[in-house]
Amino acid sequence: MLGSQPRHFISFRQTEDRMPWYKKLHWQIIIGLVLGLLYGVLAAAQGWGQFTSDWIAPFGQIFFRLLLLIAVPLVLASLITGVASLSDLKKLSRIGGKTIAIYIGTTVIALIIGLVLVNVLNPGGSVPEEMREKLQMTFADQAEAGLENAAASAERGPLQPIVDMIPNNFFEAARSNRNMLQVVFFAIFAGIGLLMIPKDKAKPLLEFFDSLNDLIIKLVEIIMIFAPIGVFGLLADTITSIAGDDLGQILELLGALGFYAIVVILGLAIHMTLTYGSMMKFLTPRKISDFWKALGPAQLVAFSTSSSGATLPITMERCENNLGVSEEVSSFVLPLGATINMDGTALYQAVAAVFIAQTIGMELDLTAQITIVFTAVLASIGTAAVPGAGIIMLVIILEAVGVPIAGIALILGVDRILDMCRTVTNVTGDATVATVVAASEGQLRDIPA
Ligand code: ASP
Repeated sequence: MLGSQPRHFISFRQTEDRMPWYKKLHWQIIIGLVLGLLYGVLAAAQGWGQFTSDWIAPFGQIFFRLLLLIAVPLVLASLITGVASLSDLKKLSRIGGKTIAIYIGTTVIALIIGLVLVNVLNPGGSVPEEMREKLQMTFADQAEAGLENAAASAERGPLQPIVDMIPNNFFEAARSNRNMLQVVFFAIFAGIGLLMIPKDKAKPLLEFFDSLNDLIIKLVEIIMIFAPIGVFGLLADTITSIAGDDLGQILELLGALGFYAIVVILGLAIHMTLTYGSMMKFLTPRKISDFWKALGPAQLVAFSTSSSGATLPITMERCENNLGVSEEVSSFVLPLGATINMDGTALYQAVAAVFIAQTIGMELDLTAQITIVFTAVLASIGTAAVPGAGIIMLVIILEAVGVPIAGIALILGVDRILDMCRTVTNVTGDATVATVVAASEGQLRDIPA
């Protein structure tokens, strides 16, 4: 960015190639993930829930909190320097316009995939009546808590989401990871301002944010040493909190909601392989296999944390270091994507809305399905990049098509698992678009074979 100084990302690629496999980061994370999963199942079967939440879960939470801790400063520093480095407003509007158009285009494709699958496979048709009642009773309280906020947001005027994007106090915006969109707004706004003031006046601030950027990258490097243990703790905790001390409960839930969950996961898989795969193949010189290999660690962290915000530092590192995306493109496209581009969330929201309607025997005609596409694009933009945010925004879609919002209780039981999967898609989508934009701008560096 400033001058020709490259960002000091850790060069996993250069050092990783010479390491034995078990020392490579992605293998270590996979091992942590699998062990966490196995431990979680064992703990649930043995009734070690309390021990796990006292002694294992905190390691996962520390990892997660450390990642989130750097997310807001990273978005701020990256976007301000990212925008300001685009040298003029024409370049900003070209790259910005292209990025947003691809983001929205891919989200619409994800929605269409989700809607086609849920309508053709009809997972809601197979939930027996007594199971539906049981689910609704079990999760009614949890659903109600989320619904109060969401119902309030659904009552507001049509332009309210735009008003909400604009913070009235910077510190208030930076105070919560849920307000990332407001931080994004401020950063782009400030970046544009910096482009418009004389260069010598802008320089000290740019140098400050550039140095903040480097600091954050160093912090990511430190946090990632801890990733395998963090991922182990997160997975163990997730499994035991879903299952409680009763593994049978998970099996029962999967029996009722398994088909619905499979439809969501199938949709995500199709979107990732077909949509992102063809974008990679036809719009960039990257091999699809190289893309998956490069992004692996970010996808694994997305799966374990269920947060694209927390994964952002790693997504940026992988894109710049392992995919060859220039810093100029990655520092603009990725923070923006982590906040507004959520293909996985949109696809899940569409499937969930139709599934709830199917379960309660409600027909959704073509107009309703088109309404789902429009509202889900907006809802996914407004979804915060933190765990469980997607289900809250689902209310907006249900309201728009007249499906009772209490129906959310039906799907809560498997939401965490689906959150993990949709976050992987969200992060993969951001990285795909960053690679495509970089290729189209001639800013995709060659990476050693
Ligand atoms: N957890 C998702 C993310 O951070 C958002 C969601 O809940 O769908 O990308």
